Amino acid sequence: METTVVWLQPAAPRKPAEGAPCNGCGLCCAAEPCPLGILLTRRLRGRCAALTWDEAAMRYHCGAVTRSPAPLRRLVLRWIGAAQGCDSSLAADGPD
Ligand code: SF4
Ligand code: SF4
Repeated sequence: METTVVWLQPAAPRKPAEGAPCNGCGLCCAAEPCPLGILLTRRLRGRCAALTWDEAAMRYHCGAVTRSPAPLRRLVLRWIGAAQGCDSSLAADGPD
């Protein structure tokens, strides 16, 4: 089994089960960029540069969504599958 170490804010929510609503835990985007992240940041591996911590909401957001002009936002949300729930099978393990 491959292990990847990623750094996440201690206040970030824990990753939910695959298929559950995305809670902004940030794990998937901290592990590797999605196709949109690759396109935007031209990086194939490592933490997506678009991943943004929201201190007020205590969760991560996709910067590609939050920085997109309003007319484009729905398209970006659809592209990253935001409404489809957590699509990450990564298993989170870390200090509690
Ligand atoms: S989709 Fe990513 S950010 Fe959302 S809950 Fe799953 S692992 Fe966390
Ligand atoms: S959803 Fe956004 S922050 Fe996450 S990997 Fe894709 S582009 Fe990056």
